Amino acid sequence: MLDIRVEKTATPKDLPKADNPLKFGTIFTDHMFVMDYDIENGWQDARIIPYQPISLEPSAMVFHYGQEMFEGLKAYKTEDGKTLLFRPDKNIERANKTNRRICIPEIPEEDFLQAIKEVVKLDESWIPTKPGTSLYIRPFVIATDPFLGVRPSDTYKFMIILSPVGAYYPEGLNPVKIWIEDDYVRAVKGGIGDAKTGANYVASLKAQVKAHDEGYSQVLWLDGVERKYVEEVGAMNIFFKINGTIVTPVLTGSILPGVTRDSVINLCKSWGLPVEERRISIQEIHEAHQNGTLEEVFGTGTAAVISPVGQLRWEDTIMKVKDGGIGEYSQKLYDTITGIQLGKIEDNFQWIVE
Ligand code: PMP
Repeated sequence: MLDIRVEKTATPKDLPKADNPLKFGTIFTDHMFVMDYDIENGWQDARIIPYQPISLEPSAMVFHYGQEMFEGLKAYKTEDGKTLLFRPDKNIERANKTNRRICIPEIPEEDFLQAIKEVVKLDESWIPTKPGTSLYIRPFVIATDPFLGVRPSDTYKFMIILSPVGAYYPEGLNPVKIWIEDDYVRAVKGGIGDAKTGANYVASLKAQVKAHDEGYSQVLWLDGVERKYVEEVGAMNIFFKINGTIVTPVLTGSILPGVTRDSVINLCKSWGLPVEERRISIQEIHEAHQNGTLEEVFGTGTAAVISPVGQLRWEDTIMKVKDGGIGEYSQKLYDTITGIQLGKIEDNFQWIVE
């Protein structure tokens, strides 16, 4: 059990107005969790303090070599006023997997969960209640040694900040257009693609800008060796329904193991659908599109839950899926997962933590 010191803000901010569209990641609540690490004491000085700027040496290692881990999950308010978290244990497990990969000391799982629960509870009034809204939780660790050599830092800061977010699709599910990138790559096997660390996202910017300029909302990455197999989308995992079977790329080390991905696989299996985790070449997708067996394509992630894909562009080929509309399982998965998250659908998998 962490002994968390609490210093409440003396100047609470105004809560966002009910009609505020809550653009993702722009508003932050009154408080944040902080805990420090040093070699002698381990993780220590757990505290919840007013949300404020932090002070670091310009030489802090995180600024130079990017030793940092982050996570993303959400808290939801039910109609009867309960606050629910969705599978926080999976995010905590993934956080420590990232920590191990990039030489950051692990955070005890029970302390991590306690920290999330306590800071969310203190800022509970910030959880929006309109359909599709939630409180986004961003835990992260940064390397703070003032040192310009390349090695793991000896000191770290673990923080949790909270941000009320609006519905990803205010008018209901909206199919996205995806750009299949065959030049730049995001990650390679043996690298850090399966860790949630900033370097993967900075590596993705150039292709994302290119895709946006072409009118596409996100990039679908191909494998880094042959540019042949499908990996994942910008901040989502990818699923295809081909001839009645749900297919998603197998986790080979260069793909982030999404919590939503795992939930979708479990739900589809529970509905009796055949699910395959395997390598999928872009050629196979193209052929399925041509012979009419590409029935659905959707992305999965915490932010949007399910993003139906209406169009894929691969080199000069444009593949329209479902005539740009929403597939049956995209809708059903979205309704089921958001229903469980809001306590409206029975939680048969014990995914909810109050
Ligand atoms: N891939 C990447 C690269 C991501 O950033 C995310 C978002 N965390 C996902 C997949 C989906 O993961 P999750 O379902 O856990 O949000």
